[in-house]
Amino acid sequence: MTPEADVTVIGAGASGLCAAIFAGRFGRKVVVAEHMPSPGKKLLLTGNGKCNLSNLDLSTAYYHGAGRDFLSAAFGRFDGLKTREFFLSLGVPFRNKDGYLYPLCEEAHGVLQALLNECSRLGVSLNYNIGIRKISPVSGGFLLDTKEGEVFSRRVILATGGAFRKETGSDGSGLLYLTGALEHPVVPTLPALLPLYADFPYLKEVQGVRTRGTITLRISDGTEIKDTGELQLADYGLSGIPVFQVSREAVKALAEKKTVQAELDLLPNISEAEAFLFYRDLFFGREESTASLLYGTIHRKLIPVLMTVAGLTDTLPAKELTEDGLKRLLKAVKHLSMPVTGHAKPDMAQCTAGGVDTACVEPSTMESRLVPGFYFCGEVLDVDGICGGYNLQWAWTSGAVAGMSAGMNAGMSAGK
Ligand SMILES: Cc1cc2nc3c(=O)[nH]c(=O)nc-3n(C[C@H](O)[C@H](O)[C@H](O)COP(=O)(O)OP(=O)(O)OC[C@H]3O[C@@H](n4cnc5c(N)ncnc54)[C@H](O)[C@@H]3O)c2cc1C
Repeated sequence: MTPEADVTVIGAGASGLCAAIFAGRFGRKVVVAEHMPSPGKKLLLTGNGKCNLSNLDLSTAYYHGAGRDFLSAAFGRFDGLKTREFFLSLGVPFRNKDGYLYPLCEEAHGVLQALLNECSRLGVSLNYNIGIRKISPVSGGFLLDTKEGEVFSRRVILATGGAFRKETGSDGSGLLYLTGALEHPVVPTLPALLPLYADFPYLKEVQGVRTRGTITLRISDGTEIKDTGELQLADYGLSGIPVFQVSREAVKALAEKKTVQAELDLLPNISEAEAFLFYRDLFFGREESTASLLYGTIHRKLIPVLMTVAGLTDTLPAKELTEDGLKRLLKAVKHLSMPVTGHAKPDMAQCTAGGVDTACVEPSTMESRLVPGFYFCGEVLDVDGICGGYNLQWAWTSGAVAGMSAGMNAGMSAGK
């Protein structure tokens, strides 16, 4: 690694590469220090390799951690439109799928390559397998103690990602620099956007089912949160996008020793009263089994389980189903309840909740309020979004803001 830089970006993930480009566009000498052998490992996993890199609806309501004012100030400097212009300038137009934005090539590889091309065009120095032991503020900047020698940098941008998903290089090690002279408050980290374990005696029978439904989480403190989409049932419990969307609350509640109950509505598009009338008419006078008449509305693997939960036999002729029996069946279909007992291991998480406390960061520059000249971007900050392109959008927004600010200010003195 070069012994001197205007701006050093630690981490060659989505936010770090974006920050390096924006700092590089100020003509600064920009160095990226990555501890993995290659860049963008997590980026390559996004959207099942297709990279859902933004969303048309970028309301701050879809983010947790930082408050609305913080997010609005950052997005005020670099919003969705600027993101689209930025990627277009790199040769990556977006494809709109119901508001979810993907690169036209629908490959995360294409996005990573475009970022690397621009780094190369700007002369950004990309360094891999770099282990930074310590970062110390010194006169005019910072001294980075690496295994390869010391590096002086006028500005430093910490873009080391979250605390989970170690195979991608995101292991929480970046937060360890924030002690001593760089002391920064960190909100404790928890995994977010991951499957939940549930206690339901029929999980083996229904594993593999993918069905549209609503999951409602009821937490013992009275909190209720729900989401609708394709639910995935597994032998350990619940997965799928709607489960990911509510998982953050479940993980937090379980860590606080609260109890969490999940309730599934397997007919989310109609009310219970409508469903009652529909099935009552369907079953009227029919000789066929109740179970066989459910095939048009309920996934076939769920039917025997729902019948059992409702206390009904599979072979019961539909015409013999009583009003009370139908109500019990609808309770099973629309209120299938099970305790949430845990969550998948943190390295399954798509995102980290918690991180650098944003109260100590200036949102229009991403500069530390405690250590002048030190910047943050991406998942290392206490900002996490729901599924739908929100986390990558945060990487682009915060990366661009940090890169522009550090690049612009790298000519001025910083540090002690
Ligand atoms: C399976 C999966 C699918 C996802 N899909 C989507 C999606 O479709 N849309 C979306 O918006 N979001 C998605 N996300 C989330 C998104 O990938 C992350 O929010 C985003 O990559 C965060 O960018 P980052 O630059 O902050 O962190 P990262 O991408 O994690 O990059 C951090 C980089 O820093 C390096 N690093 C860490 N510590 C050090 C250190 N001490 N020294 C040097 N280098 C270090 C790491 O090796 C890594 O290269 C997904 C995540 C996962 C795991």
